[in-house]
Amino acid sequence: MINLKKGSVLLLLLLLSSNSSILAEDTQSHTSTDFYRVEREDDIQEKLVDVMTDSIDEVISYFVDSDTSKKLEIPTPVTLKIKKLRSRPAYDIKGRILYLGHQKEEEFSSDRAARLRAVHEYGHALFSRNTNNNYNLPSFMDAQIVKGFWDSKERSGLLFRRIDEQMDEFRAFTQGEVYSNFTEEERVKYFSDFEAESERISDESKAAMTSQRLVEKMFSMYAELFADTVAVLFDGKLDAVAEVIISESTRESTQKKAAFRSFENSIAVEGFEWDGDVHSVFAPARQMMADMLLEKIAKGKSSYGAFLEQLLEILTKEIEAILILEDGVLRSKTTTVKELNTSLIEKLHLLESSVD
Ligand SMILES: [Zn+2]
Repeated sequence: MINLKKGSVLLLLLLLSSNSSILAEDTQSHTSTDFYRVEREDDIQEKLVDVMTDSIDEVISYFVDSDTSKKLEIPTPVTLKIKKLRSRPAYDIKGRILYLGHQKEEEFSSDRAARLRAVHEYGHALFSRNTNNNYNLPSFMDAQIVKGFWDSKERSGLLFRRIDEQMDEFRAFTQGEVYSNFTEEERVKYFSDFEAESERISDESKAAMTSQRLVEKMFSMYAELFADTVAVLFDGKLDAVAEVIISESTRESTQKKAAFRSFENSIAVEGFEWDGDVHSVFAPARQMMADMLLEKIAKGKSSYGAFLEQLLEILTKEIEAILILEDGVLRSKTTTVKELNTSLIEKLHLLESSVD
């Protein structure tokens, strides 16, 4: 055994510990980081976990290593559930869990496909975190719609419970002795009260559901654009997402959908026929972003953080401007995809002219 003095043991430990933190970044021992926790299923290859976590680490570095990106918050903790999935990779609405991995027996067609899927989903986590409860873009802080969304989600849950309770009361009233103790007049009153209350709850829950669906759809449209932007910057090619999708399917409908997700397409607002998919709403606006993205790609990764932050701010402001609260129901001021694109393109032009 080597004889070391106490002081040198301490020094050695310090050296080892500082070394091991550098090693943890360089090697691929991704059990967890400050930003995410990995839950990996046994039948998923370690290599896939590495490919996905390395990619997510790179996206995190756009913000951590950037001097200019200050407002965008990196969501913590995010759980990466890397496993065999029943459907495609996905995220929960609050951006806390990302379901990564491949579908059942298939594997990803390439490492690039795995990377882009991971990075796209991580884009959702960034978007959700910064637009929901813990966003810190000041103008969005007081947005009525965000509060309205979470309120309505909670409210519809409470209303469903209220319906159950009311049904129980109704059953109790119509059964057994209680019922026979009431006069005919009292019974009639009970039934009409019951009916009125049922209608009120039903209207309220319908309003809550309408708000919830609308906001979920609105958020998804902009979130998909943001997530694909993250993926395209990461990859360096404007049609990266489209390429991967096309490489994985020969179906004509998939090919068409994929083309809508390229930032290299030439889809004009005027002639655009939306297929109803939240991923493709901004196909025309994507084209407008092409030059901007190419410029960032040429500048390099250090420019990504600040750009994504600006983009996120524009997108959240668009959502904020479109949704209005009316009689307790969230409604959309803008209804056509054409209007949504025109408005977004206008804002992107402003961004373009403000960038040196
Ligand atoms: Zn997505």
